[in-house]
Amino acid sequence: MSAPIIDRLALIGVGLIGGSIARAAREYGAVREIVATARSEATRRRVVELGFADRVVETNAEAAKDADLVIVCIPVGASGPVAAEIASSLKPGAIVSDVGSVKNQVLKDMAPHIPPSVNLIPAHPVAGTENSGPDSGFSELFVNRWCILTPAEDADAQAVEKLKAFWTALGANVEVMTAEHHDMVLAITSHLPHLIAYTIVGTAEEFSNVSRSEVLKFSAGGFRDFTRIAASDPTMWRDVFLHNKDAVLEMLAQFNEDLAKLTRAMRRGDGDVLFDHFTKTRAIRRGIVQIGQDSAAPDFGRSHPPKGGGAIPRPYSDE
Ligand code: NAP
Repeated sequence: MSAPIIDRLALIGVGLIGGSIARAAREYGAVREIVATARSEATRRRVVELGFADRVVETNAEAAKDADLVIVCIPVGASGPVAAEIASSLKPGAIVSDVGSVKNQVLKDMAPHIPPSVNLIPAHPVAGTENSGPDSGFSELFVNRWCILTPAEDADAQAVEKLKAFWTALGANVEVMTAEHHDMVLAITSHLPHLIAYTIVGTAEEFSNVSRSEVLKFSAGGFRDFTRIAASDPTMWRDVFLHNKDAVLEMLAQFNEDLAKLTRAMRRGDGDVLFDHFTKTRAIRRGIVQIGQDSAAPDFGRSHPPKGGGAIPRPYSDE
C-alpha cells in the first residue's frame, strides 16, 4: 500500500457522510490518523464503540488542532459558526473542507473565519442514502460517485490536488467547478427532486379519499421511491433549501411552467404532447444508466453490504 495522502484527518460531524469518510479513509489507506468529534456526547460515545476513528475528542477546536485536513460534515447552516470555532486551532498549510450539499453560501459563511495561511476548499460528495447518524456510514459510499470541489479562483493549486487525491483514494470521481455552477446544477438534479418528493408524500397523507393503508399497500406504483427520498434528514434538507434558495426558486419556476404545459395537454386530450415529452424523458433515463450512475433495475442496493452487517443501503438520494 502506498503512503497515506493525509497524515492527520479531523472529522467534525460523524453521521452518514463523516462516518463513511472515516471508514473509507481507513480501509483504503488514505490517512494515517483520524480524529473525530460530534456535537452530542451520545454520538461521540457511539463513534468510540464503532471504532472507526483513532481518537474521539470533545470539541471542534480540539479536533482541528494539528490536523492536515479538516472536513466539516455537518448540516450546512452550522458551517459558519463551526469555522469560527476552529479558526484559531488550524495549523498553517492545513486544508479545511466540507461536504455540504450547497456550496456558495457555505463558502461565504466559512471563508471570513479561515486564516490566510490555511486552504479552504469546499467539496460535495454526490453520494448518500436517506439514513443518518454514525451507524449508517459505510466505506463504499463514494465508490464511482462524483465528488465536486469548488475552490475559489485564487485557491492554492497544490492543496486542490491533494484534496482531489484524497477523494480519488476513497473511490470517487472528482470534478472541479465554481460554487455558483454547483448550486445551479444540484438545484435541478437533487434539490428540486427532494422538494417534489417532500410535497407529494405530504399531499398523499392529506388525501382523504384514499385510506392510509391503501397508500402503503399500493406504494410500488411509483410512490415508494418518493417516500424513500422524503425520509431524508429534515435538518439537512431544511438547511439546503434555506441556503440554495435562489437557484431552487429559479428551477421551481421553470418546473411550474413545464407542469402547466403537460396539464394543458392532458386537459385538451393532446396525446402527442404527452407522448413526445415521455419519449424525451425516457432517453434521459437511459443515458443515466449508460454512464453508470444507476442500475437499469428499478430498485437496487450496493453490491457490498456495510461492514459489520446491517441492511444493504437503498439507492442513492443525494445529494
Ligand atoms: P448526519 O448523518 O445527520 O450527521 C450529522 C453530524 O453533524 C452528526 O455527527 C451531528 O452530531 C453533527 N452536527 C449536527 N449539527 C451540528 C452542529 N450544529 N454543530 C456541530 N455538529 C453538528 O448528516 P449527514 O447525512 O452526514 O450530512 C452531513 C452533511 O453532508 C450535510 O451538510 C449534507 O448537506 C451533506 N451531504 C449529505 C448527503 C446525504 O445523502 N445525507 C450527501 C452528500 C452531502 P450529533 O449526532 O451529535 O448531533
